[in-house]
Amino acid sequence: MTQHSLLQTTGPRIEPENVSAPPPAPTPGGAVPPPGYLMPEEHTDAVQTALLDWFARHKRALPWRERYTPYEVWISEVMLQQTQMERGVAYFRRWMERFPDVAALAAAPEEDVLHAWEGLGYYNRARNLHKAARRIMAQGGGFPDTPEGIRALPGIGPYTAAAIASIAFNIPVACVDANVERVISRLFDVDSPVRQEPAASIIRQWAQRLLPPGKAREHNQAMMELGALICGKKANCPQCPLERFCTARHLGIVHERPVPGRKASIVPLTVASGVLFCRGKVFVQQRLNTGAWARLWEFPGGRVEADESPAEAIVREFREETGFAVRVRRPYGIIRHGYTTFRVTLHCFGLELEDENAAALRDDEGRPLPEVLTAATACRWLAPEELAGIALPAAHRKLADRLFGNPQNVLPGV
Ligand code: SF4
Repeated sequence: MTQHSLLQTTGPRIEPENVSAPPPAPTPGGAVPPPGYLMPEEHTDAVQTALLDWFARHKRALPWRERYTPYEVWISEVMLQQTQMERGVAYFRRWMERFPDVAALAAAPEEDVLHAWEGLGYYNRARNLHKAARRIMAQGGGFPDTPEGIRALPGIGPYTAAAIASIAFNIPVACVDANVERVISRLFDVDSPVRQEPAASIIRQWAQRLLPPGKAREHNQAMMELGALICGKKANCPQCPLERFCTARHLGIVHERPVPGRKASIVPLTVASGVLFCRGKVFVQQRLNTGAWARLWEFPGGRVEADESPAEAIVREFREETGFAVRVRRPYGIIRHGYTTFRVTLHCFGLELEDENAAALRDDEGRPLPEVLTAATACRWLAPEELAGIALPAAHRKLADRLFGNPQNVLPGV
């Protein structure tokens, strides 16, 4: 336990409101903040000024920082929860070309929204954006301008509501994302896991207390920007505008903050997926209405059971999901893809029908259609170039790109 910690493992918990200003003193480990160190809680004004000055000089030029419309702030915040900044900017620009405002998003078919989101993962976020846009339009088209009103929209949690309220409307609510957690845990030497109580509440309180009046928009972005550019996993303290206030820096324990929590275990999944060809087209099906990839398109497939090979699994899965009897034409190798809580090893196969003439149902061009779909709501035969126009889960997109992204990869007979 350090002298400057807001947390105590024994005795009463010290809340920010109750923190007095003890002079720098030896910690149990013997570290003493050197002369020149300014306790951050006692110098809130100076911390705010240093941070805002730094942000004014170093902030990145980002498209949603041009006008600060609620719609653009909302979309950028939700996208940045899914991906890194550079990729987020590219997605944001494409999204704004397709859906320039709430009305355009609300009017779009869900399939287009999922397609624009493809590659970002967590497709429920895209569905919720769509639902929320439709609700806003149904309620008259005005974006809610209170934290409570914003929070009531589908898919908007406390962080996103605070980000929209403060960045779009300059309402004084603090945003606490992973960057802010890291900065505050170091600045105030929070010495227990930051996602758990009591640290999570204390970080939120400090974040709120640091907000300068009338500057929520700039301050919240500055905190997040500092965490992204300077106070990252590997902190660049000599370049930091808050260096002289930072407790962890002065105690030499930056690398020990934030205190991590328990890591979620990653579940390995072995799956087989098959690209079924028939007269120049490939078979895709649209997933059911529930689950992480609800209503996305896919190449059929499923888990490889313990007593079967991947090739046996794909033949079985096709029979179970579509009724088609297929055989493996050739293997396409393995694609690995990591998700938050599991890691997929996807065994990929090119397939052909055992008997093209066996099915009673046919599409307009005479290709067979399944009589029943057990794991999907719809299916299509598509030309390879049409795959670019549907939303596929990331691992299936990798497979499509591997097969058709490069004309040299296109298979004989396709
Ligand atoms: S001094 Fe270092 S650890 Fe402290 S806030 Fe700045 S970058 Fe982070």
